[in-house]
Amino acid sequence: MVRKLKRTVTSVLPVSNRRTGKCIHCGACCRLPYACSFLKRKPEGGYYCSVYFFRPLNCRKYPRTESEFITADTCGYRFENTVKTNTWTMSLILVVRSFFRKLIQFN
Ligand code: SF4
Repeated sequence: MVRKLKRTVTSVLPVSNRRTGKCIHCGACCRLPYACSFLKRKPEGGYYCSVYFFRPLNCRKYPRTESEFITADTCGYRFENTVKTNTWTMSLILVVRSFFRKLIQFN
């Protein structure tokens, strides 16, 4: 219940730019901690929200951050863990690495 309260309060904040993927309608986040009364089952499988266009921010933005992401086993969203390195930094690393390789060859 504390987690839900935290998600509700922080839902005014932006969604992490490391989030990728999309909702696959598993319904897992709609049962945190209890099944939402607006959660309905599709006849062909999966779930949908019966008040989708009026759903609150914490539902709209889930999973907003990795720390709030507690349905990773079924959810269609993911968070990228890669540290983005810009091309200038990458070029510098390659030049330094090449320099030390040549230095080692001459010794
Ligand atoms: S847990 Fe993820 S995939 Fe499942 S309903 Fe919620 S947002 Fe969609």
